[in-house]
Amino acid sequence: MNLIFMGPPGAGKGTQAEMFQRQDGLPHVSTGEILRQAVRDGTDVGWRAFQFMQEGDLVPDEIVDRIVHIRLAEPDCAEGFILDGYPRTIGQADALDTWLARADRGLDAVVFFEIREEVLLRRLTGRRVCPTCGAIYHLDYHPPKEPGRCDVDGVTLIQRKDDTLSTVLHRLEVFHRWTEPLVEHYRRRGLFLSVNAERPVPEVYRGIREFAKSRTARPG
Ligand code: ADP
Ligand code: AMP
Repeated sequence: MNLIFMGPPGAGKGTQAEMFQRQDGLPHVSTGEILRQAVRDGTDVGWRAFQFMQEGDLVPDEIVDRIVHIRLAEPDCAEGFILDGYPRTIGQADALDTWLARADRGLDAVVFFEIREEVLLRRLTGRRVCPTCGAIYHLDYHPPKEPGRCDVDGVTLIQRKDDTLSTVLHRLEVFHRWTEPLVEHYRRRGLFLSVNAERPVPEVYRGIREFAKSRTARPG
């Protein structure tokens, strides 16, 4: 299955992608996570991306396109992948199409996470993440077993710097301006599934999985 998860920040894309990775063995390719790792490692990409990310702006297409193409060419993505947070612009969608055509691969579904802004804001301000393994928690909806510590590796959880209210509001504007136009781009191609992302995590998962399975089972 080759899937794209699209939606505003905080809609639950990473949480669902982690679930698909655990239960279906599909690699979770999150451009945000790859970029945050590059910043932590102090690589050239990290240095170039840092300021954009800090301010909630998009990192330039050519940087993000390159890291995605390198990642998708790795062996674990050969049987399928979930792209979380990419593409975010029409330019990135075109670059992805070109890459997929060259690799003789296609997309099975583009899943759009529908959610009201007031719900998003609660999710983002309560989000906590593990800086080492990337596990995602929420203070109220999905707290760790021991407060403040990751269930997986015991590392102290952090709040992302771009999850402050003012940066979140800016990221939402960026989403409406640059990413929302992709909805029509993919709807026209019949790949599109819109999910109600306000439902509990297992229900959202079941809905996406059913649709994705029906797409991959289609003849031809
Ligand atoms: P995204 O990857 O779209 O930015 P995340 O997966 O990081 O979003 O989720 C944002 C926050 O909302 C996290 O704190 C996560 O634990 C919480 N969350 C995700 N899905 C749900 C859900 N279905 N119900 C309640 N909280 C959720
Ligand atoms: P995310 O983890 O998806 O919320 O992304 C965090 C930040 O990383 C975004 O606010 C952008 O600064 C940057 N980023 C992630 N994915 C992309 C992308 N596809 N295009 C441009 N910037 C991105």
